[in-house]
Amino acid sequence: MKKSNLVIVYHRQPYEEVLEDGRVTYREHSSPNGIVPTLKSFFGAVEQCAWVAWKQVDPKAQKSFERVVRISDSYGEYNVSRLPLTAAQVKSFYHVTSKEALWPILHSFPEKYNYDPVDWATFREVNLLFAKAAVAEAADGAVIWVHDYNLWLVPEYVKQMRPDVKVAFFHHTPFPAPSMFNILPWRDEIIESLLACDLVGFHIPRYATSFVATACSLKDVEIVESIAVEETLTPRGTALSEPEIPQRLRYKGRDILIDAFPVGANADYIREVAATAKTAQREEAIKAELGDRKFIISVGRTDYTKGTRDTLLAYERLLERRPDLVGQVQLLVTSVSANSGMAVYRSVQRDIEQISGRINGRYATFGWQPLLLFTSAIPFEELIAYYRCADVCWITPLRDGLNLVAKEYVAARKDMNGALVLSEFTGAAVELPSAVLTNPYSTRAMDAAIDQALAMPEDEQRRRMARMWDSVEKYDSTHWARHVLGCFEKLQGLNPPAKVDD
Ligand code: UDP
Repeated sequence: MKKSNLVIVYHRQPYEEVLEDGRVTYREHSSPNGIVPTLKSFFGAVEQCAWVAWKQVDPKAQKSFERVVRISDSYGEYNVSRLPLTAAQVKSFYHVTSKEALWPILHSFPEKYNYDPVDWATFREVNLLFAKAAVAEAADGAVIWVHDYNLWLVPEYVKQMRPDVKVAFFHHTPFPAPSMFNILPWRDEIIESLLACDLVGFHIPRYATSFVATACSLKDVEIVESIAVEETLTPRGTALSEPEIPQRLRYKGRDILIDAFPVGANADYIREVAATAKTAQREEAIKAELGDRKFIISVGRTDYTKGTRDTLLAYERLLERRPDLVGQVQLLVTSVSANSGMAVYRSVQRDIEQISGRINGRYATFGWQPLLLFTSAIPFEELIAYYRCADVCWITPLRDGLNLVAKEYVAARKDMNGALVLSEFTGAAVELPSAVLTNPYSTRAMDAAIDQALAMPEDEQRRRMARMWDSVEKYDSTHWARHVLGCFEKLQGLNPPAKVDD
C-alpha cells in the first residue's frame, strides 16, 4: 500500500465498527461533530493520509488479524492501521497508567494519583508498538501527528527509527505546572520524548508555558524565541493567560516549535442543525414541557475533573437559598460514563446519582422534578435543541483541557439569548471572557455566578453572547485545521536529518 504524507496517531479508531450479517463493516460516525471528525477533516487537505489506533484483540486471534484496512468514506480514502492489543495491555497502558497515574497529575489532582499498579514497561512497550505502526505508514519526510498523553513516548521512538519524518504532538488535556508534573517518576523520559518532536501543541498559552517551564526544570533547554500573546493568532487571552509564550526551543542542537491554539467547535454544522425543522420541533416539545420555568443545562462526562458534584451541590444550595425558584427552575445534567469499568469513575457516578436523588427527594412535587439526570449520551443533534432552550449553560469543571460544550452552546445561540457560566479552570475560558466566569472551588463564587446568570437582563445576555459568538464562529474547527496545516508547513526545512557520509 502507498505510504502516507500525514499519519495521525490517536488512540480511538476513526469509524464505528458494526456487525452486519456476521461480518464486521466500518461505518462513518453518524455526526460530523467531535474530535475524531475534526481530525479526519485533514484527510481532505493532505494527499495520502493514514490513521493509527489500537484495537483490543484476543491473543489467539492476533495472527489472523487484518492490521491495515483501507477505508473510503466522505472524508476520502485512507489507511487505518489497527494495533492489536491484548486486554491485559489495554488495562495496563490505558486504564491504569494513563488514567490512574498520568490523568490525575495532568489535571492537578495529586490525591487521585495512583502509582502502585503502574507497569511502566508495558506503557513503553505499547508506545513502541504505536511508533512502529506509525513509521510503517509514513512516506519519506512525512508528518507523524501524535495525540495525547497516553502516547507521550511515541515521538522519541519514531525519531530513533526514522530521523527523516517530522513529529508533531498535540495535547488535548491541560499541562500542569512543573511542581505538579515533576511528581511523575517518569518525568525525564516523558520530557525527553516530547523534546524529540518538531512541534508540540497545546490548547492555550498557559499549558505551553507550563510545559516549557517543566522542560527547563529538567533539561538543558534554551528558549530561542517567544512571542507576546497579543501578537499570536490565538484568540485574545484574559488575565488567565501568559503575557509571553515561548515559540521555539533548542535542545541537543535541534529546534522544537511550540504552539498554543485551541480546537474549535464545528460552528457551521451546529448552525445547520439548529436551522432544521426537526430541531425546531424538538425545541417546541422541550419548551412545552418546561412551561415558564427557567431551564439550566449542564453537560459533561463522568469524571472527577468535570466538577459535576460541585454543580449539583450549588443547585441544592440554590433551591435552599432561593425559595422563590422552587418549582420555577429545572436543571438537566448529563453525566455520561465512559464505561471503563474503573472503580474511580464508578464512585464518581454513584456520588452524582446519590446527590441527584437527594435533591429530587427533597424538592420534587407531583408536577415538578427539579433535576433530570441523564447517564447516557444525548445524540449531538438533539443536544442542540436543548442548548437552544437553555436559559443558562452551567459548566464548572475543576480542570478541563478545553471544554467543547461551552463553545457548542454559544454556537447554537444565534438568537443571542442565554447565559454561559464557565469555570475559569477550563481552556475555553481563555477564549470566552464574556462568559460568567466562576471558581468551582469556592461556594460563594459558584452561588454568585448562578444568581448572576439567572438574573441577567436580556440586553446583557445579547451583548455577552454576541462577543462569544464572534469568537466561536471565527475560531471554529476549520480555522483550527488551517492553523495546524500552517504549522506543518513551517516544519519543512526544520531540523534536517544529519547527512551520513558515504
Ligand atoms: N456530548 C454529546 N452528548 C452528551 C454529552 C456530550 O454529544 O450527552 C458531546 C458534546 O457535545 C461534546 C463532547 O461530547 O462535543 C464532549 O466534549 P468536551 O470537550 O466538552 O469534553 P470531553 O468529554 O472531551 O472532556
